[in-house]
Amino acid sequence: MRRIVIKVGSHVLTEEGTIALDRLGALVDLIAELQKDGRELILVSSGAVAAGYTQLPLDRSSVKEKQALAAIGQPYLLKIYQTQFAHHAILSAQVLLSADDFDSRKRTIHARNAVDTLLANGVVPIVNENDVVATEELVFGDNDRLSAHVAHYFEADILVILSDIDGLYDKDPHRHAGAKLRKVVHHLEPEELEADCNPHDRFATGGIVTKLQAADFLMRRGGRMFLASGFDLGDVRSFLIAGEHKGGTLFIREP
Ligand code: ADP
Repeated sequence: MRRIVIKVGSHVLTEEGTIALDRLGALVDLIAELQKDGRELILVSSGAVAAGYTQLPLDRSSVKEKQALAAIGQPYLLKIYQTQFAHHAILSAQVLLSADDFDSRKRTIHARNAVDTLLANGVVPIVNENDVVATEELVFGDNDRLSAHVAHYFEADILVILSDIDGLYDKDPHRHAGAKLRKVVHHLEPEELEADCNPHDRFATGGIVTKLQAADFLMRRGGRMFLASGFDLGDVRSFLIAGEHKGGTLFIREP
């Protein structure tokens, strides 16, 4: 697995309304470790709205105020990443994309050429949705599906989604004590992809369903996805560095 897209959600990156620096730092350390191992890393990071809110408490329930928060928070978040990556002498770059960028072959190729150039120079592209121009019809709405597009169109070998949950369970483990982890998933049923979105706090959208939609998008195109905890990076480290699948869920089509 040479080219890896890692997507990190807002639950992992924020703690009580501020950026969780320890977790962000641990993620940057892992990316640096993978880069030293010869891999190419693309990071898809949420957290701009939450970061903006730490600077100016606008109303997150209003679309335009949320867009304003993202505009405030995005450079702030990138500055934190830049500082953390600088500890490893790694440069990072901002790549803002919107859904319609992937509708046009020409725009996709331009974006891919730029990302290829960054990667060839050892720079870590940090991707986020371009919230200010994202209109309601075009919006990905969550970075799960955006990251699946990034993984597919930028020809990554795998998409890794780091969440507040350590994998896919047979039912929501926060509501059912006996939920069991599904370690490998080859196929998703249509109803699993349509279940109601059920975000459980005001910074997150999508929940598990958008992660399954991302996995389905990639599996249909011969790609794969790994869902693991962003709180404890042990499982993702084992999987990517040692090649050992201890925890987390691998979504891969039946060979
Ligand atoms: P993030 O902020 O990392 O993008 P979300 O909080 O939006 O993640 O989505 C993950 C949440 O989805 C889990 O914390 C869990 O409560 C919920 N969930 C619902 N059903 C499942 C399931 N079958 N397996 C795992 N998590 C589930």
